[in-house]
Amino acid sequence: MNGIRETEDVFSPNKLFYHMDRMAQWWRGENVYPINVELSPTTVCNHYCTWCMHGEYFGSHKGDNKALKLYPDASMMRFDFYRKLVDELAELGVKSMTFSGSGEPFVNPEINDFITYTKAKGIDVAIITNGSIINEERAKVVVKNVTWLRVSLNAGTAETRARIHRTSIEDFDKTLANMKRLAEKKKEFGSKTQLGGQIVICPENWEEVYLATEKVKATGFDYMQIKPVIMHPMSKDRQYEREFFLRAIELIRTTKELEDDRFKVFIKWDQFNGILDANYEQDRYEKCLATFFPVIEANKLVYYCSQTRGLPQFAIGDLSKNTFKEIWESAHRQRVIESIDIKKCQPLCRCHPINKTLWALKHPNNNPNFV
Ligand code: SF4
Ligand code: SF4
Repeated sequence: MNGIRETEDVFSPNKLFYHMDRMAQWWRGENVYPINVELSPTTVCNHYCTWCMHGEYFGSHKGDNKALKLYPDASMMRFDFYRKLVDELAELGVKSMTFSGSGEPFVNPEINDFITYTKAKGIDVAIITNGSIINEERAKVVVKNVTWLRVSLNAGTAETRARIHRTSIEDFDKTLANMKRLAEKKKEFGSKTQLGGQIVICPENWEEVYLATEKVKATGFDYMQIKPVIMHPMSKDRQYEREFFLRAIELIRTTKELEDDRFKVFIKWDQFNGILDANYEQDRYEKCLATFFPVIEANKLVYYCSQTRGLPQFAIGDLSKNTFKEIWESAHRQRVIESIDIKKCQPLCRCHPINKTLWALKHPNNNPNFV
């Protein structure tokens, strides 16, 4: 058994209740420091996925058009800076750190130090990566320190991966080999790191969903996550048609056949439901209450949330000018919070389940005393 249960969701809102101290603060309307922080060690990526929500306005991605970007700089956070930041975050009670993009985390040459130092400070680490540059040494650091790592594979063949990630044909096999090595290292070191693959379904890859899941299983990884592509409001591309997803879902369902005691398939049904019905759960909250899930960019700007990173109006502060605590307690952050209009947000954002839960807590109905 891999220790991952069928019903487990990495971002389950039920996990809020493991942090009753924060929930009590939130309930009383007090300041709540983040439980989880997402951080980009770099804005540079060695790929440039066709749907990359960051690549259109952030950093340096392979073969991109920098002239079209708001922040075309190739930012690389230095470990010296990060160490002081993590010291402060640990002090404020942050429990977990997710390294993710705007860029590819492993492009940062100091990433091993980022990982080991964070873990040594008592903060859990997760990584979202394209998996293409995880060498032997990094694999060891991962399985010794990381709680979960997810590889965005997005294809079942080298050609499709190359087309979507706008990378070389060789990249697919290299990534699968890196995944296999991670799984082997996990075994070798008796590690509990949860290793997952992911495919974001779009017209270019949906027919390969079964094959991609088979490939991920064959590497020895623990699970595959399947979700639809949801366009960022800033994206120039339009959301794909409902009919396309209806067709894709039939094939997606078949991937469950690949499950066994060791390997699980997680299909993000809430996101597929949201794609199929534009009004899906849109009335579940009227305001964003998930005010404590910030993102820190490699260029030291702090954003309100994962989906608003890169948008100047959602930058709550700049760590080159202020400490995290100063930013968090600033009047400017409050103004950003007040300015949020969820009608303009990406539907079913990462904090959607959290918002549903928090809103329901503050707006009880259906006779709450009858538990
Ligand atoms: S691997 Fe991630 S950061 Fe890089 S281009 Fe693709 S989506 Fe963007
Ligand atoms: S509802 Fe909007 S502002 Fe709130 S977390 Fe989601 S995307 Fe961000």
